[in-house]
Amino acid sequence: MTTPTLDIITKVPERAMVVFAHPDDAEIGSGGVIARWIAAGCEVTYVLCTNGSAGTADRALTPAQLAEKRAAEQRAAVDFMGVKHLVMLGYPDGGLEPTREFLADVVRAIRAYRPHTVFTHDPYRIKGFQHRDHRAVGLTTTDAVYPFARDHLHFPDQITGEGLEPHKVRELWYWGMDEPDVIVDVTDGVDQQIAALIRHESQVPGFNVPKGETIGNRVKARARELANGYAFEYGAAFRRLTARG
Ligand SMILES: [Zn+2]
Repeated sequence: MTTPTLDIITKVPERAMVVFAHPDDAEIGSGGVIARWIAAGCEVTYVLCTNGSAGTADRALTPAQLAEKRAAEQRAAVDFMGVKHLVMLGYPDGGLEPTREFLADVVRAIRAYRPHTVFTHDPYRIKGFQHRDHRAVGLTTTDAVYPFARDHLHFPDQITGEGLEPHKVRELWYWGMDEPDVIVDVTDGVDQQIAALIRHESQVPGFNVPKGETIGNRVKARARELANGYAFEYGAAFRRLTARG
């Protein structure tokens, strides 16, 4: 039994957003929490940044065929979860750069859907490898939250020309962090997380599960490990940044 040191978060915001690189990253990163929050009435928006066109070991599939398949899988996962809005930015898989254009896209989504909490990849992870696209999404989303979506003089054309208003995100939650500081009880969400994850049928063979195990077992084993020492069976942990004022 380990000593619990993370803050247990039970509050559910009115609106949340998940910004992620590839189809299936949202389900892996925050799926358990999102399932629970939607059940509690939270309105959730997904922002998928790439089309996932490089995510296969199948040499018979063209990137365009794969992108189409993965878009359909993401829509199926979103419908299953009850995610309200899905924004697909369509950047090439493996080709994401932290450009002004990409930053403007994430700022636009934040200003349009106005989340209290945003989830994304931790771009500052240093223990272990991380996909280049994950870093680009994490960095750009962090910048979009503060200060670009908040301040009206950044991307002013979105305000004068597109009818959007600046928006202040209150909390940014990173998954894939080296050191988490918050945990959520996902005992009532982990089964939905797994069910949404396996909607990404093209990815299931690549999930790299040890022989004799399923992806569901693996997700549960990890969630059980995180909950060790807490008064619930399954947990999801994050590193949280909170806006001042
Ligand atoms: Zn990914």
